[in-house]
Amino acid sequence: MNQHFAIIGGGITGLAAALRLEQKAPQSQVTLVESADRLGGVLQTRLKNGYLIEHSADMFTTELGIMPALCRDLGLENELIPTNTVGRRAFVAKGHRLHPVPNGFSMMLPHRMDSILDSELLDPAGRLRLLAERWVPRSDGESDESLESFAVRRFGQQAFEQLIQPLISGIYSADPKKLSMRAALGRFVSMERDHGSLILAAKAMKQPTSLEAGSSGARYGIFLALKNGMQSLIDRMAESLKRTRIVYNTQVKSVLPIAEGRWQIQAANTGWPDLEPIDGLILAARADVAGKLLSSLNTGLSRQLSAIENASMAIVIMAVDASQIPQAPECFGFVVPEVEGRNLVACSFASNKFPGRAPQGKVLLRCFIGGSLHAERVKLDDEELFAMARQDLAELIGFRGEPEFQQVIRWSECMPQYHVGHLEGKTAIEQQMAGLAGIELAGNSYGGVGIPVCVASGQRAADRLIDGATKS
Ligand SMILES: Cc1cc2nc3c(=O)[nH]c(=O)nc-3n(C[C@H](O)[C@H](O)[C@H](O)COP(=O)(O)OP(=O)(O)OC[C@H]3O[C@@H](n4cnc5c(N)ncnc54)[C@H](O)[C@@H]3O)c2cc1C
Repeated sequence: MNQHFAIIGGGITGLAAALRLEQKAPQSQVTLVESADRLGGVLQTRLKNGYLIEHSADMFTTELGIMPALCRDLGLENELIPTNTVGRRAFVAKGHRLHPVPNGFSMMLPHRMDSILDSELLDPAGRLRLLAERWVPRSDGESDESLESFAVRRFGQQAFEQLIQPLISGIYSADPKKLSMRAALGRFVSMERDHGSLILAAKAMKQPTSLEAGSSGARYGIFLALKNGMQSLIDRMAESLKRTRIVYNTQVKSVLPIAEGRWQIQAANTGWPDLEPIDGLILAARADVAGKLLSSLNTGLSRQLSAIENASMAIVIMAVDASQIPQAPECFGFVVPEVEGRNLVACSFASNKFPGRAPQGKVLLRCFIGGSLHAERVKLDDEELFAMARQDLAELIGFRGEPEFQQVIRWSECMPQYHVGHLEGKTAIEQQMAGLAGIELAGNSYGGVGIPVCVASGQRAADRLIDGATKS
């Protein structure tokens, strides 16, 4: 009898899993159940008045090679575009001005000491303390540590507040007092362990390429986007599914055992088609969703899954004429330190990062408000969010007049938070899952939030199901 595999959640993780199941288990039957009326989850692109607007992620890293390989398999390799080479740097708000992130400073890795000495973001004592990092003893490495604890210990309070907190919290929407170094930023922990210092680790690294040499803030050279936006990747993945039955508008509410290693799923809505018994199931939605679905099978596991918290974020999109932001530096965007007490977490100049995002002479801004430290702001109404964005833009880049259009995109409880102890929690979850043969977890709640890691986790979950099905 042909095996029946089901996937819950049609974001990029679930789609990657479905593609893998089709490819590696050609005789199987695959069903993908999605609660929304579209695929892609948080990934979505809209076109308006010649602007290309990404609703969440706008780029992915080429590290691991996963995304270039996936795009090649899907015939999208010619659609991949690198970040623009002009303005490849980020700024940081301080007072009423934006200051460049020191050249070669990437997240918390200082590649160039001269640029630290020149930076007006730090006072002389702050600069010297940062540069003294090479003499700070390494930690005993025994326990996990928060971003704040690690960064203050190694680089001092000022560098943490003015540089590291805004650069990294912007990516994870995280509370730096809670963000786990080991789970989210493990490569910096390894650098401390192996080199005794991040400055020395940076020195030992390959020299940045000429394209990277002038960049700061993130390693923009390793990121790619799709010419027609993330939606084109989702659409191509969906089109490539030849045998998968996709069930939309259906929120799965529980998973029940029907026999050894076989499962049945139940949905919240009526009219749900009776599914054949399932031999293998991938839960490709957030951990707290997986926790609810598994609550009748293992309450301890359900509690552990539900303990992984999520942050929310509002993005205020503004389409403006370049003349309306006269003080905007040539850059990819700016971040705002928490200590500045402003409304914005960050602002991305989306049309500076990639070509084809705005008509000539226009700028597409994406202003981020909320995150872990200001979850309450995401619930404000649109007018309040517009006013908050405009206030900061007026003070920092001289914004004036009316935007051509503006809109708010809200992501509620969509960004998993890897708190200190996350890795231990993940191991405990994996141990409990071993008792549920034929069910796999995948997605951004466990081993990384970036798109490539999500794709890899969907593919791995599919591989494990196929391996398990072959063995039984
Ligand atoms: C604002 C923002 C900006 C980001 N920027 C970047 C970036 O620049 N680069 C990058 O690499 N990553 C970025 N990310 C992260 C990345 O986009 C996500 O981690 C990734 O897309 C998550 O994919 P997923 O399929 O695991 O989850 P999701 O996209 O959340 O998909 C899960 C799916 O499951 C469905 N679902 C949930 N519950 C049920 C249920 N009970 N029954 C059926 N279906 C259900 C949902 O409707 C959804 O479609 C960003 C994320 C956000 C929110």
